[in-house]
Amino acid sequence: MPDIPLYNAVSLHDAIALADIVLEAAATAGASDLHLEPQPKSMRLRMRVDGLMRFLQAPFDHLPASAADALVVRFKLLSNMDIGERRRPQDGSFQWQLQSRKVDIRISSLAGHWGEKLVLRLQWQQQNTQLDQQGLAPTQLTQVRSQLTKPQGLILVTGPTGSGKSMLLYSCLKQLQAPHLNLVSAEDPVEIALPDIHQVAVNTDIGLNYSPILRALLRQDPDVIMLGELRDADSADVALKAAQTGHLLLTSMHTSSIGEAMHRCHGLGVDMLALSYCLSLIVNQRLVRRLCDLCKQPMSAAALEQLSSDMWQAAQADYDGCYGQFNPCIAVGCPSCNEGFRGRFGIFDILVMDQATRELVVERRVDQLDSVAGVRRQGLWRVMSGDTTMDEVNRVTW
Ligand SMILES: [Zn+2]
Repeated sequence: MPDIPLYNAVSLHDAIALADIVLEAAATAGASDLHLEPQPKSMRLRMRVDGLMRFLQAPFDHLPASAADALVVRFKLLSNMDIGERRRPQDGSFQWQLQSRKVDIRISSLAGHWGEKLVLRLQWQQQNTQLDQQGLAPTQLTQVRSQLTKPQGLILVTGPTGSGKSMLLYSCLKQLQAPHLNLVSAEDPVEIALPDIHQVAVNTDIGLNYSPILRALLRQDPDVIMLGELRDADSADVALKAAQTGHLLLTSMHTSSIGEAMHRCHGLGVDMLALSYCLSLIVNQRLVRRLCDLCKQPMSAAALEQLSSDMWQAAQADYDGCYGQFNPCIAVGCPSCNEGFRGRFGIFDILVMDQATRELVVERRVDQLDSVAGVRRQGLWRVMSGDTTMDEVNRVTW
C-alpha cells in the first residue's frame, strides 16, 4: 500500500489516490458499506463487513479534516453530486473497478452536527445468485424449486433489513431464467442487474412508484414479476390481482416473522382470504456469518455443555445431518478472514401453503405463524455442523 501524505493541503492527485486506497481497503475486507463520519476535527472511516460495523485499518480509520474534505469532494465528483451543496441530502452513484472485479457504488450524503456524512453502498457485480448457494436445507430447496415451477401464485420472503431477502429473490429469478419465460421486476433500487430480465427502478422524482410500474409491467406480457417490496395498499392490490391472473409474483416484506407479515398485510387492507389463496410459499430468513474454514477450531466439551438447553437438545434430535457431521466450532481469526468469519449464509423457515396454513393466514393466528423459532432451529443445526456460532444465531434471531 503506497504512503499517502496526510498533510494539510491535500492535492487533487492525493485525493484520487486516497479514494482508491480507501475503496480498495473496503473491497478487500468484503465490505457492503463504507461510512465517512465527520468528527469535531477529523473524520472516522468505518465499514460494514458481514453485517457488522468496524473501523478501516490504521491510518485510514481516522483522517485529518483536510484529507477528509478532499476525500468527500472526490467521492461527490465521482458520483455527479453538487460539491457546493453541503447542507441538503444528495444521492449519486458511480462504478469502480478493483482488478477484474467491478463494483456499483451508490452514495448518499447527509449533513449532521459535525458536518457532511457520506455512506457508500458497494454492490459487487459478481455476486452469488445461485439458489442452492443461499443456505436452504435440501428439503427447503426442493420446496422452493417446486413452487417456482407453478405458473401463478405469490411467493413472499420476510425478514428484517439486511436478512438477505433481495438475494433470495434474485436467486429465484436466476433459477427461473429460461427462453420461454418473460421475467420482469420493479425494484427500489435495482440492486443487482441481471441479464435477460427487464428491471425497472422506482423513481419518486417522476412519480414512478411501485404501483404504476406494476400496472405498466402487466401490460408487457410478463410470466414472472418480482416486486422488490410489498409496502403499500395500492401495490399490494395490483400484486394480488397479478398473482390471481396467471402470473408468478415474487416479493418481500420487512417483518421479523410470517405472523407479523400477515398482520401488516391486514393493516394495508389486503383481502386476507384472497391473499391466502394466492400465496404458495412464505419464507422467513436471517443471515449469519460463516465461520472461516481455515482457522475455526472444534468446541471444547466444557463449552459444548454450556450450549445445552431444551431447544438445543430438541434441535439436535431433529438434525438429520444435511449440513454435515456434528462438529460445533469456535471462531479464531486468521489473515484470510474477519475475526474468524468469512461471508454469510441464510437460515430459513419455510411455510408451504395448504388448507390448514390458509386458515392460519386468514385468521392471522400469529402464535402459530411465528416462524422465528423455525429460523432459530435451522441456525442451531448450522452451529452443530460447525458453520456458524451460537452468538451469531442469537444475534439475528430475537
Ligand atoms: Zn480465518
